[in-house]
Amino acid sequence: MATIFTKIIKGEIPSDIVYRDEQVTAFRDIHPQAPTHVLIVPNKEIATVNDVTPEDEQLVGHMFTVARLIAEKEGVAESGYRLLVNCNRDANQEVFHLHMHLFGGRPLGPMLARR
Ligand code: 5GP
Repeated sequence: MATIFTKIIKGEIPSDIVYRDEQVTAFRDIHPQAPTHVLIVPNKEIATVNDVTPEDEQLVGHMFTVARLIAEKEGVAESGYRLLVNCNRDANQEVFHLHMHLFGGRPLGPMLARR
C-alpha cells in the first residue's frame, strides 16, 4: 500500500509543495512546529533510515542539497535551521516513508528536551 507521502508526491492528496524534481519532493508539514517546517521526501519509498542501502547514497546526499536550496528560498539559511530525521519508535516516527524535517524561522532551542 502506498504511503501517505507517496499519495502526496503523486498529487492524490493536496499539499503545499515547495520543491520537486525526479528524486525528491518537498512540502510543508501539515502541523508546522516552526515558521518554516518543510518535509523533504524521496520519491522512492524507503521506510526508515534502517532501510537505506549503499545504492541510496546519492539520493540521501541529494536530500541535503535540496535542504540547502529550500533554506535559502525560505530565507533561513543565514539565521539557521535544523534538519531532523526520525527513525522508529523511540524517535516517534509517524510516517514510514523516509523524510527529513527542515525547521527554521525562530530560535529552535536545545536539540532534545531534557528529562
Ligand atoms: P515523523 O514523526 O514521521 O518524523 O513526522 C511525520 C510528519 O508528517 C509530522 O510532522 C506530520 O505533521 C506530517 N504529516 C503527516 N501527515 C501529513 C499529511 O497528510 N500532509 C502533510 N503535509 N504532512 C503530514
